[in-house]
Amino acid sequence: MIHYSLEDIDSSYACDEELGVSLYSDRTVFRVWAPLAEAVEVNLYESGDEGCPLFVKPMTKVGRGVWQLELDGNADGIFYTYTYSYNGERTEGVDPYARAAGINGKRGCVLELSRLNPHGWEESDFVSLSRPTDAVIAETHVRDFSKHPSSGIDSADRGLFRAFTVTGSLTPGGLPSCLGHIRRMGYTHVHLLPIADYGRLDETCPEASYNWGYDPENYNLPEGSYSSDPYDPRTRILELKELVMSLHKSGIGVIMDVVYNHTFKLDGSALSKAFPGYYYRYKDGKPSNGSGCGNEIASERAMVRKYIVDSLCFWAREYKIDGFRFDLMAVLDIDTMNEVSRRLREINPGVLLYGEGWTGGAIALDGKSSASKANAGRLDGIAFFNDGYRDALKGETFVDAAVGYVSGNHILRDRIVDGLLGREKWADSPSRLVNYCEAHDNLTLWDKLAVSAVSYHERGRKKMARLAMALVLLAQGIPLLQLGQEFLRSKPLEDGGFEHNSYASPDSVNSLKWDMLDENSEDAQYIAGLIGYRKRHRLLRLGSSEEVQTHSYVADPSAEGTIMLRLFDDSEELLVLVNPISRAKFFMLPDGEWEVNITDCCVSESPLAVCCEGMFVPPISVMVLKRYRWKRSG
Ligand code: CA
Repeated sequence: MIHYSLEDIDSSYACDEELGVSLYSDRTVFRVWAPLAEAVEVNLYESGDEGCPLFVKPMTKVGRGVWQLELDGNADGIFYTYTYSYNGERTEGVDPYARAAGINGKRGCVLELSRLNPHGWEESDFVSLSRPTDAVIAETHVRDFSKHPSSGIDSADRGLFRAFTVTGSLTPGGLPSCLGHIRRMGYTHVHLLPIADYGRLDETCPEASYNWGYDPENYNLPEGSYSSDPYDPRTRILELKELVMSLHKSGIGVIMDVVYNHTFKLDGSALSKAFPGYYYRYKDGKPSNGSGCGNEIASERAMVRKYIVDSLCFWAREYKIDGFRFDLMAVLDIDTMNEVSRRLREINPGVLLYGEGWTGGAIALDGKSSASKANAGRLDGIAFFNDGYRDALKGETFVDAAVGYVSGNHILRDRIVDGLLGREKWADSPSRLVNYCEAHDNLTLWDKLAVSAVSYHERGRKKMARLAMALVLLAQGIPLLQLGQEFLRSKPLEDGGFEHNSYASPDSVNSLKWDMLDENSEDAQYIAGLIGYRKRHRLLRLGSSEEVQTHSYVADPSAEGTIMLRLFDDSEELLVLVNPISRAKFFMLPDGEWEVNITDCCVSESPLAVCCEGMFVPPISVMVLKRYRWKRSG
């Protein structure tokens, strides 16, 4: 490690130069920031992984720590790396700003990205929402989405970006699968687990292993294993754009899961090679490990912040990505996240931003500066996963046997009321809350119920699963489901247990089993009904705490944990009745005539029944009733 003072680095060398490769018709310009390097050279190669350099050219220092090389001619298609000299030692590394690369991201590639737009790309635009709470997000992993034979996707496209462009694929039972299913469900956004280039998985034989992708290698180019030809740097770029375009065509936005909190390795990363020590936090001379993955990125430093902001703006502009989900966001600092939010909104005012408000260990950053849940109010337009509501719904995540509100722990009633109203101690608005009861981490909802609600038969657990999802979709905030939870996704192990952390488990555990949709199609249809209902009723998507306060009323608690919630505006009133107990429960209704819209098995805008005075709500279920309110004019 080289020795220097960080304050001096930022005050002497921080700059706003454009970094990376700029391509012109008659020249190619390489720029890299390495203020303390003794020399930097550009190595140009014909191949992405083989052979010696065609030639090596020294770069010149052009001020504020930036090294530059200008080549005559347009070098489109050439591979390149940089060799940095520190203390006389030479290290070759990939350009941290590389926007294309060969196999396994070992060498960058000079490419004119504007030439890599699919036909019709200009018409493809961001999905716009009036409020973040209008979103209904489906989280999925590119490979899981279509890998299983029951996906109905051609075997050549399974597991690839391309599967998202297939319309008309069917499950064995003849139901729409993959894209058709997402459209049918009514999701507004697809949130993809990391799609930027990651390490650990060998792109030359992706079948040999599996990974979720939380091992960042190159931040500014797509992962190769999702492309039909990982050797050709163009293919992954084009195919990812085709994915985005396909979803946009269906009116669905694309959210990228981004991992700026750590890199796969510290030693040997592109960032470490460019400037040893600068990009990471250290404590007592050792890398701090707030990510739980061996290192943590020092986002608060001027040029690290710039790097993160540049990277996100690049994805938003070049790939028209509609939103970003920040992995372990509390490792990052507040100022960086606010700068991210400001700059992304210049590109797309409706960008959706949310993250995990926690870390994976102790961070070497003042807690007051961390983009954590506790500091939520100081982050501009950024939402957080509502893990409190998640655990109240289905039971503590890290204790298998723990039961939640839907599975028998009725003393959690007030936590559920808070969740339904988008009230959390740390959140100033429902727009801050991403509500969910299942994500890629931990047991699926269905598996969690299997290990906690052990005294119930499948029928009872299905009711619980439906109720948990209904309470996510009827809650104020931004609902997120893991794709497949609507058809009771499971990750069974051979020993009879269930997988808690399938980040590197085989496809047999991770892939979406579309034949489960055939088996549980009624559950999926019910959830689709709830999504549609949410979209039609603004009262379920209020944008601020003040609005919630003005438009809601909760009846007094009952001994058995039931909930009666009234939501009203000038035109209508919704009555949400929740019965968590194992027998039907009678609710006295407010005066007037009520139309039943949602029962334990049906969702309908036209009345399923009309009732007044009282109503029996079936065991472990929610019911939503509606009546119109006519405002007298004059
Ligand atoms: Ca990779």
